[in-house]
Amino acid sequence: MAETSDAIIIGAGIHGASLAFHLTRRGLRPIILERGFVASGATGRSSGLVRMHYDLEPEAALAWASYRVFRDWSEIVGGECGFTRTGFLQIVAPDHNDRLRANVAMHQRLGIPSLVVGADDVRRLAPAFHTDDFDLAAFEPESGYADPTGSAGAFLAAARNRGARLVQEVQVTALTTRGGRVEGVETTGGRFDAPIVINAAGAWAREVALLAGLDLPITTWRHDTAFLRRPKDLGPSHPTVIDFVNLMYFRPETGGLTLVGLEDDNPLGVSPDSGGDLPQPDFVERAVDRICRRIPGMDRGSLQSASAGYDGMTPDQRAVLDQAGPDGFFLVCGFSGTGFKIAPAVGACMAEWIVDGRPQTADISAFAAKRFAEGRHLTGEHAYGSIWH
Ligand SMILES: Cc1cc2nc3c(=O)[nH]c(=O)nc-3n(C[C@H](O)[C@H](O)[C@H](O)COP(=O)(O)OP(=O)(O)OC[C@H]3O[C@@H](n4cnc5c(N)ncnc54)[C@H](O)[C@@H]3O)c2cc1C
Repeated sequence: MAETSDAIIIGAGIHGASLAFHLTRRGLRPIILERGFVASGATGRSSGLVRMHYDLEPEAALAWASYRVFRDWSEIVGGECGFTRTGFLQIVAPDHNDRLRANVAMHQRLGIPSLVVGADDVRRLAPAFHTDDFDLAAFEPESGYADPTGSAGAFLAAARNRGARLVQEVQVTALTTRGGRVEGVETTGGRFDAPIVINAAGAWAREVALLAGLDLPITTWRHDTAFLRRPKDLGPSHPTVIDFVNLMYFRPETGGLTLVGLEDDNPLGVSPDSGGDLPQPDFVERAVDRICRRIPGMDRGSLQSASAGYDGMTPDQRAVLDQAGPDGFFLVCGFSGTGFKIAPAVGACMAEWIVDGRPQTADISAFAAKRFAEGRHLTGEHAYGSIWH
């Protein structure tokens, strides 16, 4: 006997969890099928940056709508998301000063608290930073980071309180359709039926889309991160930073740690099932070298831990939010290494699409899957270029 529900969500990462939360708010009782455990994919490895600085307006709008959920999490969702306000700096090389100004103006039009600051201001905000290699930065005083695993758990706890069901250690292996409509899925744990099936399978999204006859240009993206211990004299914390000059991002973590990730050398096409979450052999050395360029005193720091994670990556490094393939099949995937911070608004939009027939929280039409077949890659009006190199 198949178990029947209103909707089947494949994947219990932050996006499956957010969608489950928003669907239950609209009165649906979805079932979430997860091959591992909650946040066992990208979400559990995510660096958790919460900022609004994007060069693509629809992404900035999604991040801004999501930010307010992170900030007011306990009232809106319940439980904790671990949002920590640190302030956020986007540092660019001088040849991108005009783009930075234009993007901050776009953010301000959206209502995002953001301003252009000079290197002197950055030195006052973060006295330990080296500031001689850039003129300008964008500063978002309200931004910071959150706890991705905790956020997914809190979304799911709220969804389950309203009737959602979570089944872990069950892998979806086939999609069943009738007359061009989805009917349900086959899994390693039996059959589940629902008129709606959502692919929120992260790095495995291409395989899951193939079950519906869709060949999406989503590959896998592998990303290493390291936690480094800061010398005590560098102070109790520092802003969260994306540093385009050094192809790096970093943020503080409790316990006197700094988390570092690099924008280059993130291999594509490696199977997330190939085993092991150890970083690449030279990663820690490269990460230490980069952070010491921005915070010279980190040369007296030490390594706490390092690991790797995987996300689904599209050709333009932007998400796929769509209905495609058989009726009732939805795509919430391809987040390309930046999907955590937009999950609250993406879940709201997709729930509105599923229940009301159209998203309302934000305009997500830019993220349609057909853009790839039509050769249209999403780029910002004042683009910095690819995030990942
Ligand atoms: C190391 C790292 C750092 C990052 N840092 C940031 C950051 O600072 N800020 C930011 O905004 N974003 C960041 N990202 C990106 C962000 O974490 C991801 O975009 C986001 O977590 C994706 O969530 P998801 O729910 O789509 O995927 P996932 O969290 O990967 O969840 C998908 C789930 O689907 C399950 N699944 C797959 N196939 C099946 C199947 N057939 N049947 C059942 N279940 C299945 C998987 O087991 C997995 O749990 C980072 C990503 C990584 C890897």
